[in-house]
Amino acid sequence: RVKNSGKGALAFFSSAMEHEALARMKVEQSLRLAILEKRFCCAFQAKVDIRTEEIKGIEALVRLRDNEGVIQAPGSFINLAVELGLIDELAHLVLDEIVKSIDLINDTFGPDATISINVAAKQASNPDFMQPFARAIEATGFPKRFMIEVTEDAFVTRSHFQDEIVPLLRAIGVGISIDDFGIGYSSLSALADITADEIKIDRSFITDIHKRPRSQGILRAIESLSEALGMTVIAEGIESFEELAYLQAATKIRYAQGYYFSRPIFLEELKPATPLASEARMSLASRAVQEN
Ligand code: C2E
Ligand code: MG
Ligand code: MG
Ligand code: MG
Repeated sequence: RVKNSGKGALAFFSSAMEHEALARMKVEQSLRLAILEKRFCCAFQAKVDIRTEEIKGIEALVRLRDNEGVIQAPGSFINLAVELGLIDELAHLVLDEIVKSIDLINDTFGPDATISINVAAKQASNPDFMQPFARAIEATGFPKRFMIEVTEDAFVTRSHFQDEIVPLLRAIGVGISIDDFGIGYSSLSALADITADEIKIDRSFITDIHKRPRSQGILRAIESLSEALGMTVIAEGIESFEELAYLQAATKIRYAQGYYFSRPIFLEELKPATPLASEARMSLASRAVQEN
């Protein structure tokens, strides 16, 4: 508390700041507790081949079950976890869950589905994290199914990630995916040095793409760029039939992800009694959308 609170404004600001600091401490405390108690789980979202509607792979999206049992999306805690140095533990919990669920993943999405894990840029540049993480992936016995999704900022010139980690990941067969492409700061020359397998076009370019000529132009540019660099393109955040129809009719983009196909789902929500026939997988996934 500010002692000389004769000035009203100062007292007001200081109590607002105090309030904010307190709120932050609470979030920090609950995050630490959640890690101790392993209260994290993964939702999985399909990456779909828009020509065949088959599932190409899945993306693991971490969720926190708070102490009231409410599920929290990562927007509320990932940055804090990175700042507090808790992200490594969190990431290993994510990997553990995937490994434990591998039979269910295979039954639901097929044994060839790639498995993507998100890694924050700061996390990706930390050798203390990435090396054990890469080893853990290798120890699963199917490293070639894994992909790491990182945003453009992980690839800043001479980053540890780019120089040391990417070669390590590639050596064991882990794919590299550039997430949220188009909203970061990477220049075209930086892109020339990136050895990635996949580029995910940020949702902001996909929303209402059928009515936005400028986004359509950007999309065409990204498409030819990734073709030239040998990267697979995924359109993020398809929510409507119109957006999908545009991609199918006017582009060569083959893969997409979005609520239109499937929301991120918990495997236990699917509860398949028997392994699913591959044709049934997609309709099941879209049924889960309606139930959500
Ligand atoms: P992201 O990797 O770009 O994931 C896509 C986000 O968009 C997810 O939000 C997903 O639920 C949401 N989304 C998917 N399709 C649609 C759509 O059609 N419309 C809309 N409006 N949204 C859609 P989510 O799950 O809240 O994750 C947010 C971000 O948190 C992720 O963005 C990723 O950067 C980060 N994240 C998630 N899991 C992890 C993790 O295990 N580790 C790290 N470091 N970051 C993670
Ligand atoms: Mg992602
Ligand atoms: Mg993304
Ligand atoms: Mg994102």
